[in-house]
Amino acid sequence: STDQWELDPEELTFGRELGSGQFGLVLEGRWRDSKVAVKTIREECMSDEDFKEEARIMMRLSHCKLVQLYAVHTQRSPMCLVFEFMDNGCLSDYLRARKGHFSQDTMLSMCMDVSEGMAYLENCNFIHRDLVNQKISYCHDAFMDLQSVGIFPRFPFLLQAARNCLVSKNNEVKVSDFGMTRFVLDDQYTSSQCSKFPVRWSAPEVIKFSKFSSKSDIWSFGVLMWEVYNEGRLPYENHSNVEVVESLSKGLRLLKPRLAPEAIHRLMEWCWKEKPEDRPSFALLLRELPSL
Ligand code: ADP
Repeated sequence: STDQWELDPEELTFGRELGSGQFGLVLEGRWRDSKVAVKTIREECMSDEDFKEEARIMMRLSHCKLVQLYAVHTQRSPMCLVFEFMDNGCLSDYLRARKGHFSQDTMLSMCMDVSEGMAYLENCNFIHRDLVNQKISYCHDAFMDLQSVGIFPRFPFLLQAARNCLVSKNNEVKVSDFGMTRFVLDDQYTSSQCSKFPVRWSAPEVIKFSKFSSKSDIWSFGVLMWEVYNEGRLPYENHSNVEVVESLSKGLRLLKPRLAPEAIHRLMEWCWKEKPEDRPSFALLLRELPSL
């Protein structure tokens, strides 16, 4: 039953607005004794049942490198999700705001945090599908109308397109919106139709065949590492999404960030192997990263 997850409205108070997400407003709040972020869900964004199912999955996942979902409110409109509060906001803003002040250790540990969270999800047979740290600021640019080039990528739910990693008070990076994944038994599936697509973070097989897997998350993770070592730059910043698709198909890849050691760049390139099976798993990456 979902009842055990249902919060008591008496225990939740709302504070200032943090931003507006894909599905509605995100507010600061207090739940019991914790500072929380409350995501409200506009009714038209999701059917009740989809929402409850996602919430059920998300609540069961718990890891120190995932943004924890504490409770849900589904009995009254608007429905909302109550999350652990992340004081330092999204990773891309955080990177840009502190540009020039990151040590090698810090950049490495940011990558390790995310790969720990992802290794946990990989182990649970979840795929994140939108593992990127970029946010609202270049969100619009990240999407394109692929129909114009004859590609019809597909998502089962629009929320799959929301992507984030958030940063805690003590500068830990955590994976967020992982519940906007689907539980997949075979770790691979095709999704339904949609014309919007986060091209810059997507593996070629995702762009071409909507074929998601933990290996396509690994590709996205490679792009995330690139963003960390470029302190929040937009990947392929001077290129349109169409150009990105074309250059990937020619085998071209993002270049080594100036701040990235050779060994880190080799890991990125490993994540961007054309064939999914040639890419590492998160478990394997997690073993490689600390020794760099
Ligand atoms: P969506 O993924 O649904 O589009 P976002 O996750 O982008 O929504 O949230 C919108 C805004 O709220 C962002 O600016 C983000 O920084 C902030 N936010 C989201 N979740 C949290 C959280 N757990 N703690 C603090 N701020 C958050």
